Amino acid sequence: MAKPVLLTVDDDREVLRAIERDLRRKYGSDYRVLRAGSGQEALEILRELKIRNNSVALFLIDQRMPGMSGVEFLAQAITLFPDAKRVLLTAYADTDAAIAAINEAGINHYLLKPWDPPEENLYPALDELLEDWEAAFPPQFEGIRVLGNRWSPASHNIKDFLARNHVPYQWLDIETADPEVRSLVELLDEEETHSLPVVILPNGTRLKQPSLAELAEHAGLKTHAAEAFYDLAIVGGGPAGLAAAVYGASEGLRTVMIEREAPGGQAGMSSRIENYLGFPSGLTGADLARRAVVQARRFGVEIISAEATEVRVDGPYRFLKLANGAELSCHALLVATGVQWRKLDAPGVERLTGAGIYYGAAMTEAMSTQGEDVYVVGGANSAGQAAMYFSRYARRVVMLVRGSSLAASMSHYLINQLKATPNIQIEFNTSVVEAHGEDHLEAISIHCAETNEINKVPANSLFIMIGAAPNTEWLANIVERDERGFIYSGPHLTREGKRPNGWKLDRDPGLLETNVPGIFVVGDVRHGSVKRVASGVGEGSVAISFVHQYLSKVV
Ligand SMILES: Cc1cc2nc3c(=O)[nH]c(=O)nc-3n(C[C@H](O)[C@H](O)[C@H](O)COP(=O)(O)OP(=O)(O)OC[C@H]3O[C@@H](n4cnc5c(N)ncnc54)[C@H](O)[C@@H]3O)c2cc1C
Repeated sequence: MAKPVLLTVDDDREVLRAIERDLRRKYGSDYRVLRAGSGQEALEILRELKIRNNSVALFLIDQRMPGMSGVEFLAQAITLFPDAKRVLLTAYADTDAAIAAINEAGINHYLLKPWDPPEENLYPALDELLEDWEAAFPPQFEGIRVLGNRWSPASHNIKDFLARNHVPYQWLDIETADPEVRSLVELLDEEETHSLPVVILPNGTRLKQPSLAELAEHAGLKTHAAEAFYDLAIVGGGPAGLAAAVYGASEGLRTVMIEREAPGGQAGMSSRIENYLGFPSGLTGADLARRAVVQARRFGVEIISAEATEVRVDGPYRFLKLANGAELSCHALLVATGVQWRKLDAPGVERLTGAGIYYGAAMTEAMSTQGEDVYVVGGANSAGQAAMYFSRYARRVVMLVRGSSLAASMSHYLINQLKATPNIQIEFNTSVVEAHGEDHLEAISIHCAETNEINKVPANSLFIMIGAAPNTEWLANIVERDERGFIYSGPHLTREGKRPNGWKLDRDPGLLETNVPGIFVVGDVRHGSVKRVASGVGEGSVAISFVHQYLSKVV
């Protein structure tokens, strides 16, 4: 934790050095002592401290300074740090002015120069004030802060990225009346407040509308591989990729895992997974992802925050190109890229995505839905879990389900939970046909297939979970895929007893191997896979035994 600051200001250099020395001697281990030669200089320091979210415990200020008196300085300083204790340092002749200023600038104490010996004339007074300050002052948040607008898609993406990568951050809504946030906003220049979101790093650096790659770099995530070559490269950090990473690295393979958003994949977005073996009361997807990442790192897996965009095969080497321009090579490549949400095709939806409309459960938005109505589109487990989660915050959650029942698409336990939750309402035979709003979602039009009527209802939050599709265009010229983009593996590649085109080895493709030897596929992205956490984990771990077999023969 950054030490709170004691700031002393005096235009007399010798006095300034002396007071700084005395403060450091007694308080240096617990506080950072800063000094300034004028009120102006001190205000500059305070602005920087405020932007960094550092705290100031005490001002020790000379009263008689040219340009700006001590009292004048304090009047401005307390607008930035209202809780800091204020001590005025005066000459004997200024005591009347100091007493008069006690009310004016809320001065806690005045001290006479010289203060020797400090043990008698300085420290006892300051000890008392600092004890008071410590008792009353909550520790400041020290991580990344995100200043933005609730309805901005870019702000949402940044919050979501940080949350899913387990990077602690503080959200500051530009529209809030919170005086702390207001005084911070006033310190930023106009260009910054017009380029929201602004990410403020603990060292005070401000990133205006950063890309996720830029953010990853500054948030301490690894964006480039440490080595040029790996035994095993895994693309995708969902349950399947993470399981492969843990098994691969634990069995001695030099393993790198590339993930473009956040480890955990779809499972990481689940508010509660109740059917994963070994967790009888369920666990959140974020928790599962965090545990798996710790486990993978413990075995030495390198996790890179980047998007894989191209694969090239050259003899026994598979080269992987990343969106940030970097390239790495490996002997075995495992594709575990899962699936992404299918888009809802209705007027207004694309324009308002991120501004009230979200794909997936977008748990970072839950707090903002407090006391409001929330609409969830979809009838599968993911939609059911999201409805349960939002029902803890929202006034009412309305599930819009296209079919006339949930029985075929949702687990029985979840249907029972939904029925038992009073503020969840399920509307069958319904679909969203239009989204309305200027800069954020204000209403939706709902079509009812039974009555053929369209109803427009006010809505600020719409969460869409209507199935998913694989995103495998970047692998189109490398591996064989079905008409929906899912990747074929093992037995699916052998047709009428013939091995796939171009397959030169004297064996069939392995169970989880694609039509390119040494390129494996696991989890939701695999043609014919069962779309579950446990099956992804199972495939990821089983694939490693095929990887070993392949590596034992690779030249
Ligand atoms: C909200 C929700 C709730 C669910 N609840 C349950 C449940 O309770 N029980 C259950 O068994 N299943 C549940 N599922 C299903 C389960 O989460 C999935 O079956 C599982 O996550 C699939 O794992 P995967 O590793 O194959 O793919 P994913 O989880 O989809 O992970 C794929 C990862 O690859 C990354 N990626 C994609 N392309 C690239 C690229 N080019 N470069 C780098 N990275 C890339 C993605 O960002 C993603 O993180 C749920 C799904 C959702 C969405």
